[in-house]
Amino acid sequence: MPVETTTRLDRVLGAKTAKAMAEQLSLHTVRDLLRHYPRRYARRGEVTKLEDLQVGDRVTVLAQVRSVDSRKMRNRPGTLTEVTVGDGASTMKLVFFNHRHARLVPGAWGLFAGTVSEYRRRLQFTHPDCHLLTGDDDEDWARALIPLYPASKDVSSWVIQRSVRLLLDASGGFGFVDDPLPEEIRARHGLLSLPAALLDIHRPTSPADVERAEHRLKWDEALTLQLTLAARRRAAALEPGVARPRRPGGLLDAVDAALPFALTEGQRAVGEELAAELAREQPMHRLLQGEVGSGKTVVALRAMAQVVDAGGQAALLAPTEVLAAQHARSIAAMLGPLGRAGELDGDPVGTKVVLLTGSQKAVARREGRAAVADGSAGLVVGTHALLQEGVDFADLGLVVVDEQHRFGVEQRDALRAKGDRPPHVLVMTATPIPRTVAMTVYGDLETSTLRQLPGGRGGVASSVVPAREKPSWLERAWARVREEVAAGRQAYVVCPRIGEDAGTEEEPDDADGAPDDALFDLATERRPPLAVLGVAEGLREGPLAGLRLEVLHGRLTPETKEATMRAFAAGEVDVLVATTVVEVGVDVPNATVMVVMDADRFGVSQLHQLRGRVARGVHQGLCLLVSEAPTASATGQRLAAVAATSDGFALARLDLETRREGDVLGAAQSGRRSGIRLLSLLEDEELIAEARAEAGALLATDRGLADHPGLAMEVAALATDERAEYLEKA
Ligand code: ADP
Ligand code: MG
Repeated sequence: MPVETTTRLDRVLGAKTAKAMAEQLSLHTVRDLLRHYPRRYARRGEVTKLEDLQVGDRVTVLAQVRSVDSRKMRNRPGTLTEVTVGDGASTMKLVFFNHRHARLVPGAWGLFAGTVSEYRRRLQFTHPDCHLLTGDDDEDWARALIPLYPASKDVSSWVIQRSVRLLLDASGGFGFVDDPLPEEIRARHGLLSLPAALLDIHRPTSPADVERAEHRLKWDEALTLQLTLAARRRAAALEPGVARPRRPGGLLDAVDAALPFALTEGQRAVGEELAAELAREQPMHRLLQGEVGSGKTVVALRAMAQVVDAGGQAALLAPTEVLAAQHARSIAAMLGPLGRAGELDGDPVGTKVVLLTGSQKAVARREGRAAVADGSAGLVVGTHALLQEGVDFADLGLVVVDEQHRFGVEQRDALRAKGDRPPHVLVMTATPIPRTVAMTVYGDLETSTLRQLPGGRGGVASSVVPAREKPSWLERAWARVREEVAAGRQAYVVCPRIGEDAGTEEEPDDADGAPDDALFDLATERRPPLAVLGVAEGLREGPLAGLRLEVLHGRLTPETKEATMRAFAAGEVDVLVATTVVEVGVDVPNATVMVVMDADRFGVSQLHQLRGRVARGVHQGLCLLVSEAPTASATGQRLAAVAATSDGFALARLDLETRREGDVLGAAQSGRRSGIRLLSLLEDEELIAEARAEAGALLATDRGLADHPGLAMEVAALATDERAEYLEKA
């Protein structure tokens, strides 16, 4: 039977093997198996890095048997066989109870797979799977590199290796695999053909083979991904929207006249860019990234004003109620009478600013919705409640999404579908995005960047407070808070949790959690994270006694939250003990200190966001990252890195490293596949950029990929492959 890529594995392999592969590794077809690449390669006679093994790893090692020692056990019946294997540099033990492997004799080479454990400070495998390599075994053994595959309980690495070879033998090579990459692209970038690359990745003779094969196979992944994204962009661009050109003498001019400061060069430049794009019929689709405090809001507000002047409505979507309320408040304040059209003191040139959130009282919500529906509200601010059914816009011209990292592509799409014709979309994020992520996760957006902070800022100094190693530093931290308050300023204390009872996380949709640090976990029994309520109580009675201290968290009613924020903004509260509700966008320039409790529980970009809260005034801000993690642990070092740099782009990279690729791309999690196996956002920037250019060029001449059926199939496969899950994992 001729083998094809679509052939099901149970047609070519044993039923049991095929079943186990399907169930445990999600490998169903020949294509799946061929795309199941080795994790690494073992080299005969070369160190397989036994010394790099860690307790708990499930691994396959290539090693030679050194000695075999069987003896009766002293305390119970039966024999214990200890086999010492080595790879030249180091050795480890294989342990068998009442079992003797006849072919395990000194000098034999084999692959041993198991879970690494430790006994008397030596690493060992207990009852490992053994695959002895003998002369007649196969010519695989003669090869320099032995592929080690991601394996599972019943499908060992060598079963996979053998299955791949079976396919190869049955069809005399991988010639049956069609190459989706056009000849020109391969030639232009010096890429192997797909059959050659598959042969080299599964059966390399040298590391150079592997490298060339990987490079080619990464191209498949990058190009497919970029084609998918380019198609999205194109589809969005083809649907005509409504041009919202500038009209002098309206809200925008009034906003400009009312600004208490001059725009920075960057704000002006991005503003021009937006103004021009809004004036086109083709919907704008832009990502605005800029450091915390770089002044994105005013850029957005000016774009929104332009749209209102052109007769449309603009919606601003914020990730939390606190932030939505703050935006509505500051926009209303900035507009003055211009934001109260229809009211007694309103300016007829102006419009109405409406706030819509999920927990508003029914009356307020109904009134708000009515104003949105009849068009009298030109500026609408809200949380994701705006996405709900029942909120109809008279003429939605622009959607601004603030702090994008909380929103996924689908939510963006939901908003876009709100108008009869697609509105312009501006997405803003303060979490700087490495270029590769911008090209992939956000690949359907064009980007603008604000690099400059408005002048006159004090900036923020950060340091780590190792609470376990240096308890006195923590005392000093509270003393600093008292000093700042005495000087007339204010402080935040941030905790990972609200109360002791539930493990309540503040924002359910936050994918940016702190990465677990296994070593730290092992070293210290981790207590539950510190909670706002407990910490506030402790501070009130202890180190911060006498200060005006309030709490803020997601479980308070919107009225209480609003009132507390207002009081803090007005300087009536000295210390705000809060969860990450203060993470995004909260703007109180007089707050100068932030103490983050259990800082190790937060992700890198989250910490960066948080401390942005105390870098907003003319005074130097101070951020103290309190953690019990040992300074020398990976966690301690991650915190030190955050404290040491304020370069958001460097931190975004660090974040990417600590979160691991899989988390960002959503790949390989819980056995799910995203079509991304080899591509690395950290290492393959160049390649991704090239693939992006090629994807654009391809679609320009062959929109539906009709002339490239292979690529069309890859794109379709990616789309169904768990619905390009990583796209939503922003
Ligand atoms: P972010 O980009 O983090 O959302 P904001 O838009 O909240 O930043 O701006 C931070 C602060 O800087 C606000 O208080 C805002 O009024 C102020 N600001 C914005 N632009 C300027 C400017 N050009 N000059 C001075 N202050 C500015
Ligand atoms: Mg902001």
